[in-house]
Amino acid sequence: MATSGERRRRDPASSPASPDAARSSGANQGSLRELNLATVLQVIFSESPLTRADVALRTGLTRSTVSRLVDELVAHRLVEEGEPRVGGQRGRPGVPLTPAQSSFVGLGLEANIGLMAARVVDLSGQVVSERVVETDLTSATPDDVFTRLAALAHEALDGLPPSSRLTGVRLALPGLVDTSRGVLLRAPNLDWHDVDAASGLADAMGMPGQVIVGNEADFAALSVARIAPGRRSPWSDFLYLSGEVGIGSALVSAGRLITGSHGWAGEIGHTYVDPRGDLCGCGARGCLETVAGLRGLLTAAGVTDRQQLAAALAAGHPRAVGAVQVAGRALGIAVAGALNLLDVSQVVMGGHLGQLGDHLTAAMVAELQTRVLAAPYAPPTVETVALDASPASWGAAVAALEAVLSDPASWLTPLILDQGTPHA
Ligand SMILES: [Zn+2]
Repeated sequence: MATSGERRRRDPASSPASPDAARSSGANQGSLRELNLATVLQVIFSESPLTRADVALRTGLTRSTVSRLVDELVAHRLVEEGEPRVGGQRGRPGVPLTPAQSSFVGLGLEANIGLMAARVVDLSGQVVSERVVETDLTSATPDDVFTRLAALAHEALDGLPPSSRLTGVRLALPGLVDTSRGVLLRAPNLDWHDVDAASGLADAMGMPGQVIVGNEADFAALSVARIAPGRRSPWSDFLYLSGEVGIGSALVSAGRLITGSHGWAGEIGHTYVDPRGDLCGCGARGCLETVAGLRGLLTAAGVTDRQQLAAALAAGHPRAVGAVQVAGRALGIAVAGALNLLDVSQVVMGGHLGQLGDHLTAAMVAELQTRVLAAPYAPPTVETVALDASPASWGAAVAALEAVLSDPASWLTPLILDQGTPHA
């Protein structure tokens, strides 16, 4: 398994560069080639399978330039060629180009209140290997968590072909993160403050300088916004809500994450919803997550875990049904504020909020219809995604892979695939 540092961090949802902009910028031949390489790669990833002729049509580059660039991408195993298919332009068979499988991989990690996860994902978006463990990290120290997570990460990486190249490691954490320094500033539910998570985990993994840390809800939202690295899903404008003990959120607009001036946007869990509410982990009283977060909800329902809550709801137990309705209304009140502010109509919920589905969304949607001013013109919708225990680890791995799409030239090393740092 080869590993590589990243030359620079890029927005995981950055859009393809324009070849026209490149032609008019006076860029030198080296950087023009790099830009065209990125453009061609991004077009193939966003719409594959495409032929060389398709790529030329979409990028405005000449057929011969596209062919030369594609040949490079194929030689370095970023792109694969399929069987020629008849019916291409002017009747010539076209060779379909798709993202290469298993050659480059990203490692996404998550440490949350109730689980740790390590996922290895390839350029096609497939999970190559994974380890997901349910565990209670409420009183765990950062060092304990990094040691355990490093072991999980190595288990997930073991067994990959020696020629696989790791494009990066991303760690998803439930709190405010200073991504530039890799420091978790504050995670009330883990009771962690000012933790140098990037260095702590990188040291535990024996991979200094290779870990980038981000917010869990942001990475989880990317799992909804993408089908695969560089390939958007039909959901391009939505507010994602991530449910655990805490409630995080992330805004996706035109397929891009909107994270605010410091990267801290989305702390909807600390919206004030109940004047007589309980004390929150953040120190304030009556926050949304004291009512609709997993711990608050289980306590109000008189049960101890998700399975018991599901059973109580299925049996129509009045206390459980009442608690979920209160949570749904509180979510509706908090989310209505966000929708009024942001002009978004679609809400997607994951984690325990996704698992509760209709039990929760009916009360929530009723509040949204009352409180969102634009509701008659663009009715708010609430979708749930509940199948994946750790969407953030997939999103984190995809973010690590999208760094390659932004700057493929850095990854075109001489074809000795077990060497380390990418060719600059
Ligand atoms: Zn709070």
